[in-house]
Amino acid sequence: MKRKPKDFLIAFLLVSGLLIFAGCGKVERYSMTDIAMGTVTNQTIYSKDGDLTLAVRDIMLELEQEELSWRIEGSEIAQINAAAGSGVYTPVSDRLYKELGILIKLSEDSGGAFDISIHPVAALWNIDAWAAGENLEEEENQAAEINLEEQTAEESTFLDKQQSVIIPSREQIALALSHTGYENLSLTDSSIMLPKDMALDLGAAGKGIACDRIAAYLKEQAVCGAVISVGGSVVTIGKKPDGTPWQIGIIDPRDTSSFIGILYLEGENFVSTSGDYERYVEVDGVRYHHILNPATGYPADSGVRSVTILCDSGILSDALSTACFVLGVEEGMALAESYGAQALFVDMEGNISMTDGMKQFFKEK
Ligand code: ADP
Ligand code: MG
Repeated sequence: MKRKPKDFLIAFLLVSGLLIFAGCGKVERYSMTDIAMGTVTNQTIYSKDGDLTLAVRDIMLELEQEELSWRIEGSEIAQINAAAGSGVYTPVSDRLYKELGILIKLSEDSGGAFDISIHPVAALWNIDAWAAGENLEEEENQAAEINLEEQTAEESTFLDKQQSVIIPSREQIALALSHTGYENLSLTDSSIMLPKDMALDLGAAGKGIACDRIAAYLKEQAVCGAVISVGGSVVTIGKKPDGTPWQIGIIDPRDTSSFIGILYLEGENFVSTSGDYERYVEVDGVRYHHILNPATGYPADSGVRSVTILCDSGILSDALSTACFVLGVEEGMALAESYGAQALFVDMEGNISMTDGMKQFFKEK
């Protein structure tokens, strides 16, 4: 049977998902779910110029390998940590230098609730093992995501995983704490030096930094819009071809397969959530999670289950969400507002409170 030109067009639409909309011209939707930076990542890109998902993935891998990972020998952070106590300053790239400046300032502004030198304590708690690589495969199978564009429900969670955990002793925690303290870092205008046994961990800001890099890249490309999530940090840019707002689901901290509500956003936004459900273990009915109070060395106990920050910077949305989690509702709200950021808290009773500016974007379920 001879095919009419229209049949070809329909076949092409089905295979490639080509969309034609007046607002954006011709765009094609590309998506990818993957693992990077120790978490599940999800991309939806409405591109006018082919598939950019692999390039975005490379940005994350490069950031992790060359700059941020304390595990990967040769990364900038690993080199800085390896030189701790040597008395030698380690040169820092311009980018990392700028990021360290932002994070050290936040450490000060949060009264130490945020501390990039928390690593000795995080390592003692073995937080990394609570989110070890073998579980990530499992997570990927759950198609974990909070980006509603993908129409999936479950966020990365370690709910089912109860492993043998050794709670550190008070003495061990006190010793690890004595090796922390951002105020003990020595900085020149292009290098850094750590005292003996101190180590940096940018885990609380790395996914947000990735969102910044991805946004900068995609804005230079022929893209109508995109929404990318790196674990609990999400960036949106541009618009959806159908003109509807981006929808970012806020996970219910006690039923991580559902949302407490949705953020409806236009244009460029950075959204990060820190929650006690992301990485944790339970021992004797007590939940030990991965957000630590640098003042005590124990998981933060400020009466909140999760904090979501919305602002115009990825690094700040991520780092503020961690800082605000440690500070709790009242002080956290004040800190977020001092940064011009919007915040939404879920407390231990499941009550939601938020900055006034957040109210216009959030719709409770
Ligand atoms: P996630 O990494 O799950 O997105 P966060 O952004 O809140 O969650 O970061 C938590 C990670 O940051 C921890 O795994 C730990 O490595 C580090 N961290 C924990 N507590 C603090 C803190 N008070 N300040 C800075 N970093 C922290
Ligand atoms: Mg964070």
